[in-house]
Amino acid sequence: MNSIKHNKRKQINDMVSVVKLSSLMFTAIIFFQYFFQDNKVLDGLVNKQFIFMAVGVGTVLLLFIYVVWSFSGSSKVKSKNLKFTIWIENILFMLIFLIAIIFSGANESEYKVIFLFIITSVTIQSGLRSGLTIASISSLAILIMDIICMPNVDVNKHFQNDLILSGIFLLTAWPLGFYVKIEGEHINRLEELVNKDGLTGVFNHRYFHDALKEKITLSEKYKEPTSMIFVDIDYFKHYNDLYGHQKGDEVLRTIGSLLKNNIREDDIAARYGGEEFAVILPNTTEEEATLLADKLRLTIEETKFYGEENQPRGVLTASMGVSVYPDKAKNDVELIKSADDALYRAKFFNKNRVETYTSILDELKNDIEEKDIELVTSIKTLISVINAKDRYTYGHSERVVLYSRLLAKKLKLNKVDTDTLIYSAYMHDIGKINIAQDILMKKMPLTAEEWELLKQHPESGVEIIRPVKSLEKMVPIILHHHEKYNGTGYPDALKEDEIPYLSRVLTVVDSFDAMTSNRPYNKRKTYDEAIVELRKFSGIQFDPVIAEKFIEVIKENKDRLDNLI
Ligand code: GH3
Ligand code: MG
Ligand code: MG
Repeated sequence: MNSIKHNKRKQINDMVSVVKLSSLMFTAIIFFQYFFQDNKVLDGLVNKQFIFMAVGVGTVLLLFIYVVWSFSGSSKVKSKNLKFTIWIENILFMLIFLIAIIFSGANESEYKVIFLFIITSVTIQSGLRSGLTIASISSLAILIMDIICMPNVDVNKHFQNDLILSGIFLLTAWPLGFYVKIEGEHINRLEELVNKDGLTGVFNHRYFHDALKEKITLSEKYKEPTSMIFVDIDYFKHYNDLYGHQKGDEVLRTIGSLLKNNIREDDIAARYGGEEFAVILPNTTEEEATLLADKLRLTIEETKFYGEENQPRGVLTASMGVSVYPDKAKNDVELIKSADDALYRAKFFNKNRVETYTSILDELKNDIEEKDIELVTSIKTLISVINAKDRYTYGHSERVVLYSRLLAKKLKLNKVDTDTLIYSAYMHDIGKINIAQDILMKKMPLTAEEWELLKQHPESGVEIIRPVKSLEKMVPIILHHHEKYNGTGYPDALKEDEIPYLSRVLTVVDSFDAMTSNRPYNKRKTYDEAIVELRKFSGIQFDPVIAEKFIEVIKENKDRLDNLI
């Protein structure tokens, strides 16, 4: 839509330029005519040859400047400057016309209608008000000229005629301007219908994408960051279930206007999906965006919504994710994805909060050798493919990392082991890339064949990371994360101390998250039920010491973790 509008503006400007250009040529003819006739007003005042030179050179120069200006430079000028330049240009044109009229007989000139060129051009280009202003100035100019040139006559014939001409000037500007105005309003209304979301009044999904592309291009050009905030209402399904969709829609409307009222003019608030909003913040750093997001979050929390006391937390809130181009994302698609990832983190770190995008693999990049960066980047791509295939895996990896961080502290692991554990936790399921989505998402128990396929994922995962020298410490950890303490696991049926220590740690946190998450093939357990399960399989599946330590971690952090399940 924006480009259509831009195109239309350009076409109008080009057309007006052609009109103005032609009018300059007419003026040039008037000037040249003057040199082949006697001119009563200026006769004898100046040397004719000098005027001839001046007018000739001046016209050619003006023509040249005008052609260059109107067909090349105008699009680069910012809109405020453009308006100013257009006005300067209009005044120049009026002066040229006025001089041409004076040269061709002043009050007696037959060329006063030449003002119609500038009146129509300005009206088309700048609208009713500007058109009427130019028409009035032109009328005044010719009428005053009549009075000045024939001050002491009883019947000023020229003045009478020019009154009619003034009427023509005004009557040209007025209907034409009115038409331009009505058309403009109509277009604005249509634009609103096309670009705005009917329910909430913020921009719609399609406009959001167009605008984002445009802002990213500008961002790249001016080397300025563009930030993005993703907003998702917490427990909104619950709210809809309690009060119905109409009340839910009211909440969406309120949040839409809250967003609109709390951002700058250049920022773009849009409804991204059902109850998700997105805000584009041009020329904004991540820190500034995070501050704004937190202000928005607080405003929503403090706004009184109908019946919010029955929401799970007694108040209606929203979670937000923040990301920034170019630091955290290379293009518009990545910016959306990273802000959405950040939002997802905000959701499972307790909701009603703001999270910025961080990628464990980006952190990892700081620790690995230069030559491996490319490989790690392709692993990152692989992980995003798995995430897209199975949202559960994404949340799962993030949660397993979170648990691993807590458990690493409890076990007093050193920095190297902690990092190895965390990176392994993040990538432990990477081998699932080879497994078909319908097996991963299958609700029914897997067949023996499917199980065999699934059981290959530690080995497939290791194959993927083995070429990366910097990741070699993770190879045994990932390879053995499905071994069981009693030696009945896979792939190598290792037992007890034969299983690498960090693999035993990973097995505990991985299994705990599997038990407490909704997976396609079983219903999730509560923390207490999962603790019972950990104890039950302690010494069978799990290293008993690690399992006990992890139970301590869970109990200590229960409040914080509550939201994860
Ligand atoms: P979470 O805290 O994890 O975000 O939980 P949630 O219940 O908000 O879950 P989710 O974001 O998946 O829920 C989306 C809900 O938003 C589902 C639907 O009831 C509601 N919704 C989506 N579009 C509309 C809409 O246009 N109007 C109304 N009233 N509700 C909508
Ligand atoms: Mg949602
Ligand atoms: Mg929601």
